[in-house]
Amino acid sequence: MSRTFIDISRLEHVYRPIGERIQDTLEVEAPLESDEVRQLASRCQNCGLPYCHTMGCPLQNAIPDINRAVMQGNWRDAWERLAETSPFPEFTSRICPALCEASCCLEGEGFGATNVRQIEKKIVDTAFANGWVVPQKPLRRNGKSVAVIGGGPSGLAAAAKLNASGWKVAVFDRNEQPGGLLRYGIPCFKLDKALVERRWRLMEEAGVEFHGKTEVGKDVSGGYLLKHFDAVVVALGTPVPRDLKVPGRELGGIVQALELLGGQNRMNTGEATETTVSGCGKKVLIIGGGDTGNDCGGTVIRQGAASVMSIDLMPKPPLERSVHTPWPMWPYKLRGSSSVDEGLQRFWSLNTLRFLGEKGQVTGVEVVPVKWEFAENGKPAKFAVSGPSRIIPCDLVVLAMGFLRQKREEILAGLGLPDQENVLLVGDAANGPSLVVRAIADGLKCATQLA
Ligand SMILES: Cc1cc2nc3c(=O)[nH]c(=O)nc-3n(C[C@H](O)[C@H](O)[C@H](O)COP(=O)(O)OP(=O)(O)OC[C@H]3O[C@@H](n4cnc5c(N)ncnc54)[C@H](O)[C@@H]3O)c2cc1C
Repeated sequence: MSRTFIDISRLEHVYRPIGERIQDTLEVEAPLESDEVRQLASRCQNCGLPYCHTMGCPLQNAIPDINRAVMQGNWRDAWERLAETSPFPEFTSRICPALCEASCCLEGEGFGATNVRQIEKKIVDTAFANGWVVPQKPLRRNGKSVAVIGGGPSGLAAAAKLNASGWKVAVFDRNEQPGGLLRYGIPCFKLDKALVERRWRLMEEAGVEFHGKTEVGKDVSGGYLLKHFDAVVVALGTPVPRDLKVPGRELGGIVQALELLGGQNRMNTGEATETTVSGCGKKVLIIGGGDTGNDCGGTVIRQGAASVMSIDLMPKPPLERSVHTPWPMWPYKLRGSSSVDEGLQRFWSLNTLRFLGEKGQVTGVEVVPVKWEFAENGKPAKFAVSGPSRIIPCDLVVLAMGFLRQKREEILAGLGLPDQENVLLVGDAANGPSLVVRAIADGLKCATQLA
């Protein structure tokens, strides 16, 4: 057994300096050198039972084999192994929380997981730089056609795989460009939108047709699509955000997270000339302390907010892996983020009672501290007020409280589609709000089902 995992430490995030990165909208993560990545790959133990591959990665990437190829400097081999299971590693290697790393045996043994995500990033960036990534054209068409509603990661994955296996594929999206939340949700400082466009162009070259600015259910009916295609894949995500119906909700200056994030991404990429929502010079309060809240924090910091904090009703997660989520499970614990390093202040166990305002604009939020009781499985079960309320002054409130899962019948009715065998739901639309890697895996599974 190699002992490299002892001699070489796991690498934590390597971000560009804060003072530099908050002045731009470029990716925060600094690229690593090939030799450094080879060393990191050499920490992989090539375990007999690689949980990273079997239970960690929803795509079942052959992580130990890929790491071995990288360690040996066989970048092309590593790319080919990765591309066998992962259609868009340029996305996952940037924004995946890396379920694989949480289940790495080195993590379980307390040595710090192999840096699977950063290794994947170097592989895919090397592959693009060397021209190894080519359009996946089908050998021949099979005479069948499919309409994909929604060009997010699940729809793109289904479209890429079905196209490669011979189907004629048309993707319909209500947005101007495909990518879904990759394009209009996740900020540019986490994922450069040029990478989303590059993948879109590759898929077009491979033969996939894209129809932007086409809302199914409004501009074209689902029934029409079903008449003209052999199958319909519904990949429209979870577009309905959770709202906070407390007094004062009607005030100006209270927006949903995607209004802020989508507007800023549109401006960064020239799709719009200005943002629809700006935190410039404002005291910004984000309600919701999850990943979306962090993304909003980094966004308003770049816009020049005077201050930014997030509050959450849920309790602060433990600093270390909770005993209720032992290795190799995905750990429930407090996670850092680039936005927190940049100045986002986070607070937990605060319930929002009402919004206050003047002249129709929000000026503050009244919150009350709460104390949580936990169920036997460690999950927060119920809360009670634990102190007096207070006012947090603010002039922009961003709601980042997640998205609602719609029922299958509701989704189909909204699109004007019947519930039948050749109508398949995928990604977040099928499973509720989740992760890009799971959406991609689901898109591939759906394509296998159809093919
Ligand atoms: C702000 C934010 C940040 C996130 N960050 C991460 C992250 O860092 N890592 C991670 O793994 N996951 C992240 N997620 C979750 C991840 O983005 C989603 O799980 C994933 O994008 C779901 O993919 P999808 O294809 O199912 O849906 P989406 O990405 O939501 O795509 C759905 C597409 O359907 C289109 N559409 C909807 N209705 C219609 C219609 N009627 N007609 C035509 N088109 C329609 C939409 O325009 C959209 O393009 C984040 C989510 C949010 C909101």
